[in-house]
Amino acid sequence: MSFKAEYIWIDGTEPTAKLRSKTRVLADGAELPTWGFDGSSTNQAEGHASDRVLKPVFTCPDPIRGGDNVLVLCEVFNTDDTPHPSNTRALLRPIAERFAEQESIFGIEQEYTFFKGERPLGFPVGGFPAAQGGYYCGVGADEVFGREVVELHLDRCIEAGLAICGINAEVMPGQWEFQIGPVDALTVSDHLWIARWLLYRTAEDFDITATLDAKPVKGDWNGAGAHTNFSTKAMREGYDAIITACESLGTDQEKVLEHVEQYGFGIQDRLTGLHETPVGRLQLRRLRPRRRRCASRGRSRYKKGYIEDRRPNANVDPYVVTRLLVNTCCSALEKAEQV
Ligand code: MN
Ligand code: MN
Repeated sequence: MSFKAEYIWIDGTEPTAKLRSKTRVLADGAELPTWGFDGSSTNQAEGHASDRVLKPVFTCPDPIRGGDNVLVLCEVFNTDDTPHPSNTRALLRPIAERFAEQESIFGIEQEYTFFKGERPLGFPVGGFPAAQGGYYCGVGADEVFGREVVELHLDRCIEAGLAICGINAEVMPGQWEFQIGPVDALTVSDHLWIARWLLYRTAEDFDITATLDAKPVKGDWNGAGAHTNFSTKAMREGYDAIITACESLGTDQEKVLEHVEQYGFGIQDRLTGLHETPVGRLQLRRLRPRRRRCASRGRSRYKKGYIEDRRPNANVDPYVVTRLLVNTCCSALEKAEQV
């Protein structure tokens, strides 16, 4: 018997990359080979010499096809074996390795919005639903839209062995969230990209689209973020390290901009809405010291734990946000000898 391997990769679409995939049929027991594709169709090559290389980096069971079939997340390389500029995973690898002894752990809260045609799921034709208030973690046909897709997606993520740890309905109708973690930088990012692919693929069969647009409906409606929870070993053990990490992210305006500018396209729209915090104040309001797996939104009571960077957009590249957080915080912790 042969099996199907779905090769999945991140393309070069700007300003926000998309996911692509294609299927390879392999003989039973075969190794997963490197593969190629036409980069001129994915904004990853000019017209001439457009061959690009797919290198498998993470494999899991395919919960849609079942059986021995697999999903295969790939990095994109040029034919001379250098990483393609769109390959942000290649930039994360050396940073994760450089600070490996600090044992970074991440949990990412992925918000997204379902659309049916031109409208968010649950928005009536030619109008708007009742104002926000009852939809967050709601129940009932008047509050919740798309639960059958969400439940199936959750089951598939679990079946694939992803580190998915929860779901909830969000503030706007048709808006949802799933969480991946707590795991290391490369794992949280690989699993998040596969979970995104499974989301699009699962919704496809319901004729529903999912978008990571940071502000899917203009005006007085909630944006979509990707709150990123982060800790190192020292932060999990003491408060000084938490303070050092927060200050490394929030004090220097240049550092704030370096992060925010890479936290996803359209971040100005999201962080300046009525429901959000203006960019200028974000470093104080959006970096919250949290106790370990904190359920409350208050200050850290146990004086240790993790921080939550609430600035990243839903459409952020997890390879980028984890690289920036590890690089900035772990450098500062190293300098302060809090490792
Ligand atoms: Mn949320
Ligand atoms: Mn959060």
